[in-house]
Amino acid sequence: MRAIPAVRNLPAMASVFASNPHMLYVKPSLTRFMCSYMNKFKVRKAGHNLILHSHLPPLNSKAYSRFVDLHLISRTAGPSHAQISVTNLCPQNCSYCYNKGRDGKVIDTDTIIHVATELKEMGMVWFGITGGEPLLNRNIIKIVEAVSEDCAVKLFTTGCALTRDRAAGLRDAGLFSVSVSLDHWDEKVHDSVRGYRGAFREALKAIEVFKELGDTDVGISAVLSRDMIRSGGTEQFLKFLEGLGISEAWLSEVKPSAGIVRDDRCVITEEDRLKLVRLQDGYNASGKMTVNYLGHFEGKECFGCNAANKMVYVDAFGEVSPCVFTPMSFGNVHELDITALFAKMKSCFPSDSKCFINKNYRLFGRHSNGKKVLGPEESLRLMDEVEFGERAAFFKLYYDREDSDGIGPVGRYKSEA
Ligand code: SF4
Repeated sequence: MRAIPAVRNLPAMASVFASNPHMLYVKPSLTRFMCSYMNKFKVRKAGHNLILHSHLPPLNSKAYSRFVDLHLISRTAGPSHAQISVTNLCPQNCSYCYNKGRDGKVIDTDTIIHVATELKEMGMVWFGITGGEPLLNRNIIKIVEAVSEDCAVKLFTTGCALTRDRAAGLRDAGLFSVSVSLDHWDEKVHDSVRGYRGAFREALKAIEVFKELGDTDVGISAVLSRDMIRSGGTEQFLKFLEGLGISEAWLSEVKPSAGIVRDDRCVITEEDRLKLVRLQDGYNASGKMTVNYLGHFEGKECFGCNAANKMVYVDAFGEVSPCVFTPMSFGNVHELDITALFAKMKSCFPSDSKCFINKNYRLFGRHSNGKKVLGPEESLRLMDEVEFGERAAFFKLYYDREDSDGIGPVGRYKSEA
């Protein structure tokens, strides 16, 4: 039997184990994997929450306990992570926006809460609220309140339309983490990327408002261009971010989802990805702020592409997609329930180690028929052309002989058990 690697965050991890004795039922290979993954990050405290990084629920939360139970022990077929766009309205105009120009019948608050509740029954333990600018949904506090009891709720915002009262309302409703969009240290560059004068200042103001209130974990999310990654700009950016006194820099690269960035010249290579992983690891070994690079979490050495596997996205018009960056719909929650839609979508997506959109973006132009989001038929036609590769390290351990067809889920949805 192989040894479990030394635990970096010993006191925090000991208390997590003490409050989750059912962790002993996790497959030893998954436990070893999780310990080794967690060793890369320093556990931090925000209010009463112990946080590894904001892509996982706080380690001492009910949501994390459900994650262990549903996803590490039962290995349920449902998603662990979901994002819902609570409005498509946004004052900004980012060149890389994956939601720009979408339309349809807007999902109302009751539908959002109904879908989120069903997602929780399926296994959702982490819920990302996105947009558009989510703060333009006047019922956002009600949505957070409805979901947060045993599910970690995170907000992605530009910071526009934030007031101290709304920030306090979100915190009191149970929001555990907020990422304010910030793409560059230079005000002019950030405003120009976002097509909005004042974006930089509003972002910094929102960060300060959340920080002053306390309890909510405050970070930024940045979309890095390939040029920035290659020119060393990320390093300079991280130094700037450290000066802001935030807890986390959530980094991703520009994804070729739509518009002018669906272009070979914008897509990063494996070498670029590994450069960011090294930067993240080096920073986390010594820095004061957590660097959480999505391409590491979703890399072949970790959890791989979670699209339609452990992740689902519902846009502001109810279209259901594998993730926020994949402009394809497998149906609409106005017409079908999310459990059926997710199952249909998941049957097309064996777990893969590589980012689906980075790998397959060229197919979208061919199948879109000029639409911003491929409809269900076009999506299925596109999927016929997709070749999937090997699974990421975690899912090689996760899906075992019970999953002999190589694509299906190992468990049933919790609600069916
Ligand atoms: S397609 Fe890319 S961005 Fe979307 S879940 Fe997969 S790895 Fe993440």
